[in-house]
Amino acid sequence: MPELPEVETVRLGLARVMTGNRIAAVKLRRSDLRFPLPEDFSARLAGQEVQSLTRRAKYLVASLSSGESLIMHLGMSGRFTVLHADGRMKSLGDAEMQAQDESPGAGLHDHVMFQLEDGTRIIYSDPRRFGMMDIHPTHDLAGHWLTQRLGIEPLSRDLNAKYLVQALRGRKAPLKSVLVDQRLIAGIGNIYACEVLFRARLSPRRTAGSLENLHLQKLVSAIRGVLKEAIKAGGSTLRDYAGADGSPGAFQHRFSVYDREGQPCRRRGCTGKIRRIVQSGRSTFYCPKCQH
Ligand SMILES: [Zn+2]
Repeated sequence: MPELPEVETVRLGLARVMTGNRIAAVKLRRSDLRFPLPEDFSARLAGQEVQSLTRRAKYLVASLSSGESLIMHLGMSGRFTVLHADGRMKSLGDAEMQAQDESPGAGLHDHVMFQLEDGTRIIYSDPRRFGMMDIHPTHDLAGHWLTQRLGIEPLSRDLNAKYLVQALRGRKAPLKSVLVDQRLIAGIGNIYACEVLFRARLSPRRTAGSLENLHLQKLVSAIRGVLKEAIKAGGSTLRDYAGADGSPGAFQHRFSVYDREGQPCRRRGCTGKIRRIVQSGRSTFYCPKCQH
């Protein structure tokens, strides 16, 4: 499942080819992904210029000249393949399921194809079909049913100690469970929550409402730092994740705690071993010695 840094990596790659370009035509191989596509999906996109490609949590938003926006989510296994007019090809997203012998666009899981005016083709493939696409008025994006309950963006100025004081006040749940609550902060998933807490030296088990101001400031800077570094590295390579230039991301090699059960803590001077526990049905990795 791609997390925010991986989605941002895909956004950067798509923005390069889509922004300022016009969608000439859209071909559909089926009428639904996770949800049914709008009935007039192709007609509402054809002829529209893509004015910008932004991100809200893990949703990609292509703002169109028509005043509508195309909202896209990669789900568990979504991938965009960009085929340039000169034959160059780039893969953006989950590369694991890509069959080597298929020609792009002809695969069983190639569901949507965007033909751009300059000859570029963008193919959306999604073997598990947990991804989604929808079209919604740009002025009402905050009101879309999938995004309206999402919390603040972790890389925006909205995330600060003051916000967290209010958001965490009285919360008895473990800190890690609250950190992945998308209604508070949108886009922090399981992997990066573990990494963030390690960096902030906070135990995933401590009561969320017990954090003091100094802790909250550390938490804010850890969230920003971990996500920004992961974006810079091109997302993780957990599942052969392909970055904007088609190369695998590099962040995985730098995980401090995630998937490192039993291995020595990477913090200088700490002699602890990484422990794995299960919280809300998901694995949490942390160092019991230096995270309190
Ligand atoms: Zn440690």
